[in-house]
Amino acid sequence: MENPPDMSEALESLAAKVRACRICVEQPRGRPLPHQPRPVLVPSSKARILLAGQAPGTKVHISGMPFTDASGDRLRNWLGVTPDEFYDTEKFAIVPMGFCFPGQDAKGADLPPRKECAPAWRADLMALMPQIDLVLTIGGYAQSWHMGTARGPSLTETVRNWRAVWDAAAGPKVLPLPHPSWRNTGWLKKNPWFEMDLLPFLRSEIRYRLN
Ligand code: SF4
Repeated sequence: MENPPDMSEALESLAAKVRACRICVEQPRGRPLPHQPRPVLVPSSKARILLAGQAPGTKVHISGMPFTDASGDRLRNWLGVTPDEFYDTEKFAIVPMGFCFPGQDAKGADLPPRKECAPAWRADLMALMPQIDLVLTIGGYAQSWHMGTARGPSLTETVRNWRAVWDAAAGPKVLPLPHPSWRNTGWLKKNPWFEMDLLPFLRSEIRYRLN
């Protein structure tokens, strides 16, 4: 059988292993996943842009497609792309820090990405996507993994420092973003520089890579 045009044979093979993963049920670090795993990720051997998010929420757990929710609508608006562009695997790879919906806490907030996921899979997936030249780190977990010491003491400081992060990147360019969740609407109001300065730059870098 031919490989999907957007994935090398090695990447397709690894993605198949991820999709069959049961680590958080069978060998969990702490409490097991409260439901059957349903990994949601869109790796690509062609896309230049990687969306490194957190973990699926309830709607994405049901749809099996990343960002099929209000956060996705806001993220597409930030990027200045249509849904067709966003889900074009030759344009975007979407690989969150945790691939399965982690469940919710007692207050109904989504739990953090499962700790098991990135150590098990992320380095190998990244190694098979060497064409990525822009990583959008969405939230603190992705910023910790992809930015290392360039991450600031808080999410606000990390994102505010975006120009220095951009200039300093030796490998793929990195732009830190807050999570596009409605929970961050207050943060967006308090930090108008994000929409005034960072978003126009982000949109021009996205458009440059899509055209
Ligand atoms: S969250 Fe990651 S490590 Fe855990 S079961 Fe899903 S794919 Fe496997």
